[in-house]
Amino acid sequence: MLHITSEGFKIQDVSVNNLVHQFGTPLYVYDGKKIIEQLKKLQTAFAGCDVKVKFAAKALTNISILKLLKKNGSGIDVVSINEAKLALKVGFVPSEIMFTSNCIDLVEVSEGVQLGLNINLDNLSILEQYGKKYGNNYPCCLRLNPSILAGGNYKISTGHKLSKFGIPIEQLTQINELILRYKIDINGLHIHTGSEISDTEVFIKMATILFDWAKDFPHVKFLDFGGGFKVAYKAGDKETNVNEIGSHLEKLFEAFEKSTGRKLQMWIEPGKFLVSDAGSLLTKVNTVKKNPTITFVGVNTGLNHLIRPMMYDAYHEIVNVSNPEGNEHVYTIVGNICETDTLGSDRKLTEVREGDILVIKNAGAYGYSMASNYNSRFRPAEVLIYNGKAQLIRERDTLEDILRGQVEVEI
Ligand code: PLP
Repeated sequence: MLHITSEGFKIQDVSVNNLVHQFGTPLYVYDGKKIIEQLKKLQTAFAGCDVKVKFAAKALTNISILKLLKKNGSGIDVVSINEAKLALKVGFVPSEIMFTSNCIDLVEVSEGVQLGLNINLDNLSILEQYGKKYGNNYPCCLRLNPSILAGGNYKISTGHKLSKFGIPIEQLTQINELILRYKIDINGLHIHTGSEISDTEVFIKMATILFDWAKDFPHVKFLDFGGGFKVAYKAGDKETNVNEIGSHLEKLFEAFEKSTGRKLQMWIEPGKFLVSDAGSLLTKVNTVKKNPTITFVGVNTGLNHLIRPMMYDAYHEIVNVSNPEGNEHVYTIVGNICETDTLGSDRKLTEVREGDILVIKNAGAYGYSMASNYNSRFRPAEVLIYNGKAQLIRERDTLEDILRGQVEVEI
């Protein structure tokens, strides 16, 4: 993670200046040690619950990161068949892979079945199609919508009544009809209520619903609590107290076992918790634009590389690593994309000069994985610092990447 030393800013033990010198900007840098630390925190917090951590691959799909997580005991949660193929490529076995789809067709679900993945279904129509095709030949999990409004803001909340995700718990009767008609084998129950949930109560509410339903589904072997564990984005931010949740849930799993004789596994699907803090986006200041009422700092990245500030009003701390001793001024940091792409408004930064390097923090989750070539700009390179060594794990795009697949016809 980014920290200041007498020799300037470093990520782990690697100087930011050296990273910029070696790999250029814009550049995503991931701290492998921090990722492992976060994984261990969860494995420890939920050790009493027979936990299986399944990294939500959508947060950061670089195969070297997936490999690092696999090596340290993580399973994986995927949302598309292509993510599943990436997981298989780096050695995850199908039984470690949870395929949590939404609004996909039976063809893609069936590919998941053929690959031997765990299947998670989130609407009645696909459940019926699945039942007709597989009956009780291949079990599946049900993703429920519990009508809980939780998480950082409405846009990242997925378990409320107006959300497209999950089968509303009010549809229990219809679910049961389908299960009876097609003899569908339900092996798990799943709820993911959204992102950035710091309130322990939300997890307890989810648990109450999941355990209640599990009593009536005798073949259920695991309860999946999804992701959503919050990390701090700025000083004073609340982080999810995973130890507190772990000790509450441990008691609930024990009580369930005592009353039913069934020992269930606990699955979780963290994305941000594992990789957000570990990731930094390094960018160069192209221009300092002093308008009468506002000073803009224009950088060589934008919403094409980090869309979260615009999409979710997400706050990312920004540090000027080139001028740590400078006086502080207020700036609005904007991208170089031909759209409004404000990365941070009214931020106090040490004096910013053209050519300075800024580090955008907490950029590991949903940063590169949501990046695009908008404005025909290249997506950045990615570097992993692991065992003290900075290694390129994805090359910066080139013009060939932008042209790949385009077909120039005779006009
Ligand atoms: N599981 C599911 C089904 C999700 O949709 C998501 C995020 O969108 C996650 C897990 C990971 O969430 P987070 O990154 O907030 O932990």
